[in-house]
Amino acid sequence: MRSVNQLDRLRLAVAEWQAKGDRVGLVPTMGNLHAGHLGLVRAIRKHCDRVVVSIFVNPTQFGPGEDFQTYPRTLEADLEGLKQEGCDLVWLPDVDTMYPLAESFLVQPPEHLSNTLCGLDRPGHFTGVASVVLRLFNQVRPDVAIFGEKDFQQLLIIRQMVRDLALPIEIQALPTVRESDGLAMSSRNQYLTAAERATAPVLHQTLTELAEKLAAEQPWENSRQSAWDQLEAAGFRPQYLEWLSAEDLGLPQPGRPQRLLVAARLGKARLIDNVGVVC
Ligand code: AMP
Repeated sequence: MRSVNQLDRLRLAVAEWQAKGDRVGLVPTMGNLHAGHLGLVRAIRKHCDRVVVSIFVNPTQFGPGEDFQTYPRTLEADLEGLKQEGCDLVWLPDVDTMYPLAESFLVQPPEHLSNTLCGLDRPGHFTGVASVVLRLFNQVRPDVAIFGEKDFQQLLIIRQMVRDLALPIEIQALPTVRESDGLAMSSRNQYLTAAERATAPVLHQTLTELAEKLAAEQPWENSRQSAWDQLEAAGFRPQYLEWLSAEDLGLPQPGRPQRLLVAARLGKARLIDNVGVVC
């Protein structure tokens, strides 16, 4: 496994693989890798011959007062995990490689996808995400890239960006990898105290129960309110809890893919989760 932090070296390695006919897959990450990230590496292998993992804590997707400075950085352990997983190349750009101009070009996703859900709590977040992912796509030029369903809104935005800008990249998705008690794996779970960690699985339980109620055709408003109350009673500070189209975050349409999405604060952590709805 090679670690590369210069763009020309990255380009050369990828071009050599592609010249031989190898398909190259990209797994974008911010590091502090857990089993969810390693699951992405394993999953993308089925769609490519060479796997590139990028590690870059992207400043433009953090708002003022968010955890950019304190975001966990664990490069050595990350490299060890990636080696075990059979990753071929780790792309480690610095901020100047990623944003070479004093005034950066940024990619603004359409409002209906970005100015809702997490975008309301985190203004500008998805502009930062789209801007860094487009840069990674242009730097690595992968044939395929993979994202986790855990960040469902992000996944939809990337899919739309690829379609709208006609980027020649296939996008794959991996279902959320969870702890044995159902909590979605996340680097931010480390911000939970032991007592909060014991409470945290209530988020996924509540979401799953709500999905079951919708499948049983129970009324949305009442079911949503009792789920919200249940979260507050457990100690969460919910930010949103929505039932939306899984295709464009519009109103859910019968017979089309639908999703329940939630964000809630628990102590210092901001947790998100989502599940599919069948109805
Ligand atoms: P991050 O390092 O948090 O930016 O995440 C990098 C990628 O890993 C994104 O595509 C995330 O959606 C994905 N990811 C993070 N946690 C999980 C998880 N628990 N299950 C599946 N994918 C995940």
